[in-house]
Amino acid sequence: MRQGRHFLQIPGPSPVPDRILRAMDMPVIDHRSAEFGQLGRTVLEGSQKIFQTSGPVVIFPSSGTGAWEAAIVNTLSPGDQVLMVETGHFATLWRQMAARWGIDVDFMPGDWRRGADPAAIEDRLARDTSHVLKAVMVVHNETSTGAISRIGEIRAAMDRVGHPALLMVDTISSLGSVDYRHDEWRVDVSVSCSQKGFMLPPGLGFNAISDKARTAAKNNRMPRSYWDWEEMLKPNANGFFPYTPATNLLYGLREAITMLMEEGLANVFARHQRLAAATRAAVNHWGLEVLCQEPKDFSPVLTAVVMPPGYDVDQFRKVVLDNYNMSLGSGLSKVAGKVFRIGHLGECNELTLLAALTGVEMGLSVAGIPHRAGGVEVAMKLLEQRTEANSAAHLKVVGS
Ligand SMILES: *Cc1c(COP(=O)(O)O)cnc(C)c1O
Repeated sequence: MRQGRHFLQIPGPSPVPDRILRAMDMPVIDHRSAEFGQLGRTVLEGSQKIFQTSGPVVIFPSSGTGAWEAAIVNTLSPGDQVLMVETGHFATLWRQMAARWGIDVDFMPGDWRRGADPAAIEDRLARDTSHVLKAVMVVHNETSTGAISRIGEIRAAMDRVGHPALLMVDTISSLGSVDYRHDEWRVDVSVSCSQKGFMLPPGLGFNAISDKARTAAKNNRMPRSYWDWEEMLKPNANGFFPYTPATNLLYGLREAITMLMEEGLANVFARHQRLAAATRAAVNHWGLEVLCQEPKDFSPVLTAVVMPPGYDVDQFRKVVLDNYNMSLGSGLSKVAGKVFRIGHLGECNELTLLAALTGVEMGLSVAGIPHRAGGVEVAMKLLEQRTEANSAAHLKVVGS
C-alpha cells in the first residue's frame, strides 16, 4: 500500500508537471490541418531556443536512442573513423551503435568518474594530421555517472588544432537543465529527447543540425529512410511532418518550452546547480562518496553515490521504494551494484529535493548502511541561502 505521490527521483524519465499533463489532454487533430501546422511551427521554433540555435531542429517520434541513430546515419559513411570518449554507460552504448553501422570508433578509455578530457581530445586530434577522423562524438551529461563533459572547451581544443571533424553531442539528459549552446559551441549535431529536461513523457527524439552537418548529410553514403533529415526538413518548413507525428507529445512540448522560457533558461540552469550542490553537501555529510571525482565535471542533473563495499545497492533502493514510495536510479553496467543515482532534474525545487534527500537518509538508516545523520539539514541550510541576484529578483517581483 503506497500512499501519496510517487517520487520519481531517477535521472530520466523525470516527473511530468501537471501543467504539461493537462496540456496533452487534448483531442488528436488532423496532422495535415492548418491548426497542426501552427502547432508544428511553434514547437520547432521553440525547440531552437532551448538548443540555443538559429538552425534547424528536427523532432522524431522516437526515444533518445533513435535520435542517436539519426545523427549517425545522416552524417557518416560505413568505414568512417570517429573519436568517442568512454565517459560511462551511455557513451558505450552510442559507440556500440556506431560500430553496428560500420563506423570505426577510436574509443578513448575513461574511468567513469569524470567527463571527457579536452586536452586528451586535442592531443589525439593533433596527431590526426591527415584528418582521417570524421567526427568527435561526446556525451554532454553522462547519466550513468553524474559527470559533465565541457563541450565549449572541447570545441576550443578542436579549433586550436584546426581539425575539421564534425562535433556531435548527446545532450539527452542535459538539455533544458544545463547550459547548452549549440550555435556558440558550433556543435554540428546535438541529440536529445523528451523525457529528461523537457519534463515530457518518453517519445520524442531531437537533432539540432548545423549547416556543416547538413552538407555532410548530402554527401555521405549511409542508407536511411525514416531518419532522413531532408525528408523531415521539407514539410517542417510549414510545420508539418513526413509521417504521423506524436501530436499529443507536441502539445506537451509546447507547454514545456513555455514553462522553461517563463522561468528563463539562466534561472533554470542556476536552479539545477543549486539543487545539485545541496545534494552533494548531503552526500558528503553522510560520509558517502560522490562517484564523479572532478569538481568541474559535477552534474547539475543527477548525483551518483558510491555504496560502501559490502552493502547491497538494490536492497537499499528497494527499502526506499517500499517504505517511502520513491524510485532512485540504479547503477548501470560497469557500476551496477556499486552506485545509486539521485535525479534532481526537471520539475524539481527545494522542497522536492529535500523530501527526496530525506527518503535517502531514512533509507540509509533502515537498510543499516553506515552514515552520519544530518545530511538533509546540511542541504537545508545550503538551500536557505539565496544568492544576492535571487533575492533582488524576489524583491522586485514582490514590489511590482
Ligand atoms: C536517457 C539517455 C539516453 C537514452 O535515451 P532513450 O530515450 O532511453 O533511448 C542516451 N543518452 C543519455 C545521456 C541518456 O541520459
